[in-house]
Amino acid sequence: MAQSTELHSFTLDEAVQAIKSKKTKPLDFYQALRKRVDAIDSRVRAYLNFAEPAAVPQSSNGGLLSGIPISLKDNISTEGWETTCASQILKGYVPPYDATVVRKLKEAGAYIFAKCNMDEFAFGSSTETSAKGPTFNPWNTAYVPGGSSGGSAACVAADEAICALGSDTGGSIRQPASLCSVVGLKPTYGRVSRYGLVAFGSSLDQIGPITKTVKDNAMLLGVIAGHDPRDSTSASAPVPDYVKELERPIKGMKIGWPKEYFIDGIEPSVRHALQEAAEVFKSLGASIQEISLPHTSYAIAVYYVVATAEASSNLAMFDGVRFGIRAKAETLRDVYLETRDLGFGREAKRRILMGTFVLSSGYYDAYYRRAQKVRTLIKDDFVQAFKQVDLIMTPTSPTTAFKLGEKMEDPIQMYLSDIFTISMNLAGAPVISIPCGFDPKGLPIGFQLVGNYFDEPKIFRAAHYFEQATPFHKMKPKI
Ligand code: GLN
Repeated sequence: MAQSTELHSFTLDEAVQAIKSKKTKPLDFYQALRKRVDAIDSRVRAYLNFAEPAAVPQSSNGGLLSGIPISLKDNISTEGWETTCASQILKGYVPPYDATVVRKLKEAGAYIFAKCNMDEFAFGSSTETSAKGPTFNPWNTAYVPGGSSGGSAACVAADEAICALGSDTGGSIRQPASLCSVVGLKPTYGRVSRYGLVAFGSSLDQIGPITKTVKDNAMLLGVIAGHDPRDSTSASAPVPDYVKELERPIKGMKIGWPKEYFIDGIEPSVRHALQEAAEVFKSLGASIQEISLPHTSYAIAVYYVVATAEASSNLAMFDGVRFGIRAKAETLRDVYLETRDLGFGREAKRRILMGTFVLSSGYYDAYYRRAQKVRTLIKDDFVQAFKQVDLIMTPTSPTTAFKLGEKMEDPIQMYLSDIFTISMNLAGAPVISIPCGFDPKGLPIGFQLVGNYFDEPKIFRAAHYFEQATPFHKMKPKI
């Protein structure tokens, strides 16, 4: 039997087995994780708050995740539990309902262990825009964990969680997963219900799993995926058994290598790690084929028009009337203005300004409508590519983790860290980030595998085989 001191380092698969065999009780996991958190979270700061021990289920409900603790990004609504999106404006806001993903997790027997830090309203790539202060990268606490799901990635990497959920609008699951050396999946748009996810860019957002292994990721997606009548954009396609599909060999698989993703600005250690990863796939019987995604260079510009437009309209409801804080003022108009001035941080204000600008009459056609047209071209690039190949591999981030403070004064540099992740949100395609090495400073490197729509099973298979053939998922930060 495992020592209770080791329980925090269990994968989801191991934890499920341990509880099923009755070797370990759900409360043992809770206590082991709390102990781990007490020992290290003052240095990582992945978490905002925790469930009480009374929340831990006493007995199995027979579900796949019975007794399993889940860590949740703080933009996913939890009934009776403060949900702030790491923003001052939502301080004290307690949702009266659970997000659909939370309901599904609970039906599978799991419970929510803790809420994770994030960039305010998921605006950012470093978790530095959180009103609660930054999260630190467990591999080196002078560096950012990535963002916006930085808390969710850091807690999994530092063994302060068994697994976590994040959200991804332009890379916010994959980029922190890459910078922290864990596995992060952005599912196909519509695969997972967004009901109860505080919206950032409604046509881009997806909730997805952040885990220690590919198998864990497949297990968790199987629980949270599926049609939801409460989300009109959720897909009715049946949910396959992702775990069963994992073992199907990948011999003969064609993997595309898009030349537009191997540009000059990418760090040599990242390029090298990707080349090595391609060799691993070849040794597993897959072939690598150069392809072109010709509209890639427009992705950042298109994204920052579409995402800010949607964000500015989604954030209009935070005005001090129904949610969170309310400024004291004489008139209704001043209540709105002062609440929003006090409540939103700098990056949120910048996004609201940009979004309102591109949607304003006179500019709508020049910016928003044009961006939507280019978005279609970006999507068509992927549709064409998947006529030739099964999957596409790219770096997740052009660099490894950067130092805290390094990009905060230069938003364009910060936005460029998403250069490889945002096209898949614009296209709606499923994509995973998995670990594939370390740079000379010992900071993690990850890469992406993009699949055709609803082809998560193929992504998982290739990622699983890669993981089994490489040592990276077993390496742990010394924190
Ligand atoms: N970093 C990107 C942004 O700042 C993506 C964020 C996200 O995926 N939520 O918008």
